[in-house]
Formats: sequence, structure tokens, C-alpha cells
Amino acid sequence: MHVNVVFNPTASSKDYTVFIDELQTLCFDTKVMIVTNTTVAALHLETLKARLHVKTLHTVILPDGEQYKNFESLHCILNACFEHRLDRKSLLIAFGGGVIGDMTGFAASIYQRGIDFIQIPTTLLAQVDASVGGKTGINNDYGKNLIGTFWQPRAVYCESAFLKTLPHREFAAGVAEIVKMAVTFDRDFFAWLETHDLHVDQNLAEAIRKSIAIKARVVAQDETEQGVRAVLNYGHTFAHVIENQTAYSVYLHGEAVAIGMVMANTLAKSLDLLSQEDALRIQTLLRRYDLPTHYDVPSSEAFYEAFFLDKKSANDTIKFILPQGIGNYAMRNDIPKETVLRALKGDHV
Ligand code: NAD
Repeated sequence: MHVNVVFNPTASSKDYTVFIDELQTLCFDTKVMIVTNTTVAALHLETLKARLHVKTLHTVILPDGEQYKNFESLHCILNACFEHRLDRKSLLIAFGGGVIGDMTGFAASIYQRGIDFIQIPTTLLAQVDASVGGKTGINNDYGKNLIGTFWQPRAVYCESAFLKTLPHREFAAGVAEIVKMAVTFDRDFFAWLETHDLHVDQNLAEAIRKSIAIKARVVAQDETEQGVRAVLNYGHTFAHVIENQTAYSVYLHGEAVAIGMVMANTLAKSLDLLSQEDALRIQTLLRRYDLPTHYDVPSSEAFYEAFFLDKKSANDTIKFILPQGIGNYAMRNDIPKETVLRALKGDHV
């Protein structure tokens, strides 16, 4: 499949292209440094290197895991930039999942006040979501992604061949983000997902293209998340609490998002925004990919209080992104606490 999504963020940033299955050979007349992790390096680094024709090539291989998305790894990337004397014309390549992409983008945004970087995402989640839109960052003791920048890549190359080695759960976690885009923005795409198996290569490539096109459109309208970009957080308000309560050790992010969407749907139903039938369709689609859709809330009060730890809960109000039917959304920050507590206690669908 050879479909390019031309990504066009706001006038303040440069346009860039998301190439889908078009990574033949990349030529650069500059110093290039690949940033990757041990897992991706073992599986795919040689393939990537064979496709690069560059003046000088360096590689940084970081340990694998969300727990390494921290200052130490950032420091490691920046130190390598200095050691190899990268200059302002040099280029970083983020080669991995969202963790590598976010950290490499952050390093690129601050090294010598900002150099170019390219995203070559190797997880489904990173291809359809994390690699597009220019959010970069690391975690610290106070939470996830609390330190970072908006810094757009020069290009994104999504290669389906790299996804062949993804474990089943990681694949499904990416599907959750695809479902998120469809539920909030595109009813036809949702109906298409109900009838097309994403394990079929051609269908997957089409779903990736459609998801990136949705994200590109949203981010072009609102690069720094002052408005519509927040809709991409559908399911995430709940997911962040679930991930926090389970110490980031039970669910992958996309799995927590799947549960979070179902919880948001319960709230949406109680506000008559979503029908029981549509809520069931969403849950059925998620379950088809073995995604979890239920979380036993230990205490709805504690769960509610935990919403306020999220950096997106501004001025003591919680902004809920809820589906309004399938293919449309409502942003609500006026939902009474009692209504939310009832939804948290209720059965999810
Ligand atoms: P990840 O980067 O941890 O990758 C998941 C696992 O898959 C890792 O173990 C990784 O080594 C492995 N892996 C990567 N590619 C592989 C391949 N081709 N074959 C086999 N294994 C492979 O996680 P993720 O789900 O890609 O991304 C999650 C991160 O992305 C989080 O840190 C999240 O905050 C961030 N994120 C950022 C944005 C954004 O807009 N910037 C959006 C969503 C998520």
C-alpha cells in the first residue's frame, strides 16, 4: 500500500509527511543517530541500517520499558549527541514504540535548542497515535509525561513489516487506539472496523492510514491541545487512574484505554449521550481483539479523587470526553460528582 498522509500542523510548525510502507532507502548528507531499545535493536536494527545511506551513522540502544522513560535515558541520548559531535544539521531517528519516540523527540527538541528528528514507529500504538502529533516527553516521580515539549518530526515512516514481530497484547493495545479514533470521529470507519479483521495485512494498512488521517486532522486544528485535540483522550481519563491504581504493572496502556472507554461509555449512557446498543457495539469490537473491558473499582470515591492527579484536570474540574453516539463526542466538565460515582459503581454495559 502506498498512501501518504500529508500532515499539516499549525502555521507555527513545518508540514511533514507520514509515509506508509514507503521506507525504501533514506539518504542524508548529515550525521544521523538512531535511538532505539534492546528489543527493537535485536529484531530490526540491521534491516533499518541497510536502508540508510548517510554521512555518519551512530546508534544509541536504551533498555526496554516504560520505567526507562526518564531523565537518565534522556541524559544518555543527549550525552551520545555530544560525544558524537552532532551539530544543528544532524538528525535523530526514533526507532521503536511510543517510549522511544517520546524520548527521542524530547531530546531532539532541546539538543542545541532543537534539531530535526524522524519517527520510525515499530508498535501499532506508536504508528497510529504516538508518532504523529509532536508530543514528546518523559516520566518522573510525579507522573507520566509531565516533562516534555511539542516538537514535530520531520517525517514519519510507518512500516507494517516491523509490526510482524509484535506480541499479541501489544498489537491489541494499538487496536484500542484505533477504536478510540473511530468512536469519537468517524462512524463509517467504526462500521468498517466491525467488518474488517485487522489481522489481515491489507485491512491493517487501511486502518493505520485512516487513524493517522484522523489524528493529523485533529492535531492540525489544535496542535497544543487547547480544544479538540483533547478528544483523543477519550478513555484516557479513566485509564490513567487504572494504570496508577495497578502500579503500571497489570495493563498495557492500550488495554487500560479499552477499559477506560467502556467506563466512559457507562457515564455517557447515564447522560443519554450513548445508547445501550452503541455501547455494546464498542465493547464487542474491543473484545474481539481480546482487550479487557472491565475493572473492579475498589472504591469509587478514591477513583474519583484520583482523577484530579491527571494533568488534564484543570482548576479542580474534570474534563470528560464522552462519545455522543458513535462518530461524535461531547466534552463535559460539568458532570456532578454523584453522577460519576454512580457510573463508577455501575456495571459497565
Ligand atoms: P513501548 O514503546 O513500550 O513498546 C511496547 C513494547 O513493544 C516494548 O517492549 C517494545 O520494546 C516492544 N516493541 C516495539 N516494537 C516492537 C516490534 N516491532 N516487535 C516486537 N516488540 C516491539 O510502548 P508503546 O505502546 O509503543 O507506546 C507507549 C508509550 O507511548 C507511552 O510512554 C505513552 O505515554 C506514549 N504515547 C505517546 C503519545 C504521543 O502523542 N506522544 C500518544 C500515545 C502514547
